Amino acid sequence: MTTATSMRAAVVKEFGPKLHVEDVALPTPGPFQALVKLHASGICHTDLHAAEGDWPVKPAPPFVPGHEGVGEVVELGPGEHPVQVGDMVGNAWLWSSCGECEFCRTGRETYCAKAEYGGYTVDGSFGQYMLVDTRYAPRIPDGADPVEVAPILCAGVTVYKALKVTETKPGQFVVISGIGGLGHVAVQYAAAMGMRVIAVDIADDKLELAKKLGAEFAVNAKEQDPAEAVQAYTEGGSHGIVVTAVHPAAFGQAIGMCRSGGTIVFNGLPPGDFPAPIFDIVLRGITIRGSLVGTRQDMAEALDFYARGKVAPHVTACELDDVNDVFEHMRQGKIDGRMAIKY
Ligand code: NAD
Ligand code: ZN
Ligand code: ZN
Repeated sequence: MTTATSMRAAVVKEFGPKLHVEDVALPTPGPFQALVKLHASGICHTDLHAAEGDWPVKPAPPFVPGHEGVGEVVELGPGEHPVQVGDMVGNAWLWSSCGECEFCRTGRETYCAKAEYGGYTVDGSFGQYMLVDTRYAPRIPDGADPVEVAPILCAGVTVYKALKVTETKPGQFVVISGIGGLGHVAVQYAAAMGMRVIAVDIADDKLELAKKLGAEFAVNAKEQDPAEAVQAYTEGGSHGIVVTAVHPAAFGQAIGMCRSGGTIVFNGLPPGDFPAPIFDIVLRGITIRGSLVGTRQDMAEALDFYARGKVAPHVTACELDDVNDVFEHMRQGKIDGRMAIKY
């Protein structure tokens, strides 16, 4: 139990560049819910899209963003729970789902129409406390550093699932387009999964990081046509491509980088569209698919890669009060890996 009645949180009061860091009431856990005292929370580009109201389906201000939260259970709501007070758990984008629809029953719970999203449809981890649904909250591996493990809860699970659905086999090429929070862990998962990794970004420092983390070839899409460079290096295109970039141009470029019969998976969600050349897609038999975070099972697997030392997010700690500065750096593409709030 906690005796606190209020907490500090970063609140989106209206869509736009500024969050308000202020005192808000402590939430009370309902059935299937736990109150969690945060130790850390990653800051995902999705939180910036949420604060700016970028997407067609918008959250309703006031709300607290954040879906890479790591903390300890301090209070349980009514009913039975799979966790106890003191356990380390996280929140995730997939905060809960209905458990009964076609998608929930067939291992595709992230596409449940009744799913709740952490930091979007329910308050998230940009505050000292948060609620989780204990049936969905990821269990944090024993001994994990809260700041370092936090990005696995969104960036990690998202790219791990995306890599799986590219159906790229060990020894085949995979392009990671966009080496930010998602992309820099994607390089590590892909390498751990035995794929030959190619990194594409528009900043040389991000490409350097990708090379340190296991990419064998890197292309700066501002200086070189990435389609030409990847086609030449791979002698015919990459088998798999994961696009995490925050610019629509990268989505069109993926088609040019793809091998005949290859699969492109879109993770990035910049507002906008891109031209899709019908002739190319048909004659080269290219598959394009979207992928949204991952299921609870994907999450457990993604965390297991971390626990076994196969992936290690590159994280810089900051304070809750720094959130607006972090968003500004994120807009400018100036973040190395991930930033995470340390409480
Ligand atoms: P980030 O800001 O950390 O990284 C974005 C990267 O894209 C940066 O390295 C930037 O340099 C790069 N980039 C920008 N323009 C580019 C271009 N033209 N070509 C190649 N690279 C380019 O963002 P993030 O936290 O990694 O999130 C990335 C995107 O993924 C966001 O749109 C976010 O909302 C989305 N996302 C989706 C899911 C999902 O489930 N599908 C989950 C999490 C995040
Ligand atoms: Zn995210
Ligand atoms: Zn459902």
